[in-house]
Amino acid sequence: MRVGRKGGLHFRLKGDKPSRESRSIRLYAAPGEPPDLLDSVMQRLEDDCARISANLQTPPGAPITVILYSSVAEYHLQALGSLNYPDWVVGHGNRRGVYMVSPGCMDCVHPPEHLLVTLTHELTHVLVHRSTKRPRQFPLWLHEGIATYEAGQFTKESLSVSMEDIPSLKDLAQDSVAFGNQGGYAWSFLIVDYIIRTYGYARLARLIERPDHFESIYGIGLGQFEADWKASLAPAVPK
Ligand SMILES: [Zn+2]
Repeated sequence: MRVGRKGGLHFRLKGDKPSRESRSIRLYAAPGEPPDLLDSVMQRLEDDCARISANLQTPPGAPITVILYSSVAEYHLQALGSLNYPDWVVGHGNRRGVYMVSPGCMDCVHPPEHLLVTLTHELTHVLVHRSTKRPRQFPLWLHEGIATYEAGQFTKESLSVSMEDIPSLKDLAQDSVAFGNQGGYAWSFLIVDYIIRTYGYARLARLIERPDHFESIYGIGLGQFEADWKASLAPAVPK
């Protein structure tokens, strides 16, 4: 997910060395996290980073900082600077890195498997943030669609959205409470799934770099694209 406020305000664990470190990842975790968990999280991050960087053709950059907080409250306070967030807010990613609740956290509303998927989702946000030259013109549906797609958060079968109530791209462009309430993550997944199936990854990589160049990259305007995407969903509408 993304949070309205830029995170990473108080995330530096000053003086602490990474718990695990490689050329692409610096993983920080609280003392007491099981070594096995850190090893498997590190392996997942390495694999995801290589796979998603190749898919999105993101250039290798500085190591990505990943900070795991021991509890939801710790994450809210240390990474977001406030306890006034709902329990389901468990992570975010920006240009520097990923900040999230440790998959070893036992008192989280999300099970460990879900937290691992969230880790992949947030790592994708980092890579997208680092690749774009127009962060302020980056529509929310594109950011969240790529993150949910690469994290494999939905399948066509697991989507619980009504094809009778398809939102517009404009509705899905801005951070808002309505985004989540109207199934924004699932719709964003469907848009990016359509983009990749229809046009491939290479042009998506160009769009990530310059989201303001949609028409020259795809040869159609955003309005026509939206109509084409909606038409592609039509066969799924139950009779
Ligand atoms: Zn997200």
